[in-house]
Amino acid sequence: MDNLNLYSVLGVAQNATADDIKKNYRKLAKEFHPDKNPKAGDKFKEISFAYEILSDPAKRRIYDRYGIRGLQEGAEGGAESSTFFSQWFGGRPDGRVMIKLELTLEEIYMGDSKKTVEYMRQKLCDNCRGDGGPQEGRENCEACNGGGHIPAFAFMGMNAFDVSCATCDGRGFIIKKSMQCKTCSGSGFVEEQMKRDVMIERGVPNMLKLPFVQEGHQLRNGEFGDLYVVIVQADHSVFRRRHANLYMGDLEINLTEALCGYTHCFKHLNGQNMCMRTKPGEVLRHNQIKMMKGSGMPVFSKPNDHGDLYVQFKVNFPENGFATAAQLTTLESVLPPRENVTMPDGAEEAEMTDYKPQRRRGETDDDDDSQHFEGVQCQTA
Ligand SMILES: [Zn+2]
Ligand SMILES: [Zn+2]
Repeated sequence: MDNLNLYSVLGVAQNATADDIKKNYRKLAKEFHPDKNPKAGDKFKEISFAYEILSDPAKRRIYDRYGIRGLQEGAEGGAESSTFFSQWFGGRPDGRVMIKLELTLEEIYMGDSKKTVEYMRQKLCDNCRGDGGPQEGRENCEACNGGGHIPAFAFMGMNAFDVSCATCDGRGFIIKKSMQCKTCSGSGFVEEQMKRDVMIERGVPNMLKLPFVQEGHQLRNGEFGDLYVVIVQADHSVFRRRHANLYMGDLEINLTEALCGYTHCFKHLNGQNMCMRTKPGEVLRHNQIKMMKGSGMPVFSKPNDHGDLYVQFKVNFPENGFATAAQLTTLESVLPPRENVTMPDGAEEAEMTDYKPQRRRGETDDDDDSQHFEGVQCQTA
């Protein structure tokens, strides 16, 4: 399936913007909608499929790097991928079960704990040994004409491929209603409630997939697929994480703190109170970044090593009119001298008004904090 070019399906270039993709998709979807163009066959489905991938930045990134196969196999830990593909292509061919396990940053920091995940899996019915009913109850499946497979839509430049018939689950026959096994209603499968203990290691990476062999769905042939538990790190109100490094959101300080001394205390992820303070006489500048070496996350599989913790300061200046003329004179006596300027004769006094640059479209306050830390070296775990 790797030959499929989703960009050409939508008629856009590989570096097309999100807007271009949306525009072309709308145009093509209108043109090939089955109501309008019943002869277009699977074209509409192809277009929708291409759009679903290319309009999602995460899926598009995976597709660009690994192709369709990457999406199928859940590259970069895409936990949804198996569901996503079964929606489009049907079936669960390898019996894989993917479940998310959400952990707080505190839990990841502390590690050494056990979590229990619960999930449902399918398993062959004991009552009929997976047959769904007796031999003599079998009837030819009309949906696939007994073949067990039906052709799926063909992509551009690719051969059509077959998927398992959903009506008979690929068996080519169904069991006559009156003779169906009561336990599994003729499907041959029952659902089984499963529990699995998962050990949480210190510093476990976000989106890590932990495999548990043969703990997934049972297949017709009796084999079991695998279970994957995907670690999903919950957002934290104070810290952001990149590998083993931690970033605190902007710390707002006032001018007095910036000039005369600053102390700030916070609770670290292990519950320990920590305080940071400037040395006497030390000045904190606007946008300045400080690092606390070794105060980041434990490094995965080397839990005695730690990343670093970074903070960036935002200096809030006082409001207009915060001091009297006399106070300003006192203040000026301790601050560095200002430039002595003589206005030339006939100089025009320019009027200054407050100006706030407009945000570019699409920018928000929630943009990744770590982007403020540009230039900070990323320590890879
Ligand atoms: Zn049964
Ligand atoms: Zn069938």
